[in-house]
Amino acid sequence: MDGLSLVTNKTSERNKVIKIGDVKFGEDIFPIIAGPCAVESRGQIEEIALELKNRGADVLRGGTFKPRTNPYSFQGLKEEGMRFLSDAGKKSGLPVITEIVDEYSLYHSLEFIDAVQVGSRNMQNYSLLKKVGKLNIPVILKRGFYSTISEWLNAAEYILYEGNNNVILCERGIRTVSEETRNTLDISAVLVIKKLSSFPIIIDPSHACGIREYVLPLSLAAAVVGADGLMVEVHMEPDKSVSDARQTIDVNEFTNIKNKIKSIFNAKIDLV
Ligand code: PEP
Ligand code: MN
Repeated sequence: MDGLSLVTNKTSERNKVIKIGDVKFGEDIFPIIAGPCAVESRGQIEEIALELKNRGADVLRGGTFKPRTNPYSFQGLKEEGMRFLSDAGKKSGLPVITEIVDEYSLYHSLEFIDAVQVGSRNMQNYSLLKKVGKLNIPVILKRGFYSTISEWLNAAEYILYEGNNNVILCERGIRTVSEETRNTLDISAVLVIKKLSSFPIIIDPSHACGIREYVLPLSLAAAVVGADGLMVEVHMEPDKSVSDARQTIDVNEFTNIKNKIKSIFNAKIDLV
């Protein structure tokens, strides 16, 4: 890919390892980032955090500044939500990640979280990418839902160019002609990124399909195709989620995913 010297540099044999807390993406076996779409209350995020920790999640996610398509939809608990998320992380022992949507939420997040997420809608917000690039914080860069892989790698290059090397890419589905799912999971993106870049790539099956029944099979597909981990939306009572309820799984389904992924890796076959 022309002109992308940092994100596509594959001269070193080893893949890059990016840490969130003590979790090593690109080295540990298939870490899972899990939690609700949105932090809804102190009690909600603490309860799910403890449950997810017991069930083997590696990183806690929760949206606090929510970039919603509809301006009248719940916009997140913002500053208060970040505090709740941070406290839930400390209580459970899980590192935490939340989405930042602008300069204010980015700088405000720094004392509360272990990593930031740049969401699909902000993948081409170049001034935000530059700001994130000037910090030393791990960043999960989601693919824009209308973006090519080249545009996505260019966005990562912006962050790397400013000096922040802690980038994890996240495929979360793109818009296609398929109408039966919210987006279409571009599973081939894992193979393409692995060919072009040394940076870890994880899959978000929840936003990719938008339907909770499909989250488990797509998670297994991510493991088989060689992704470096997963980000899934989980809630104690998925139907009561204030956002993205239809795609949110419960904690028992989370355990099913963990167990099935374990069987895949225990099979000790060369997956790809
Ligand atoms: C999210 O992770 O809750 C989210 C809004 O994701 P995306 O940017 O992929 O739509
Ligand atoms: Mn969501």
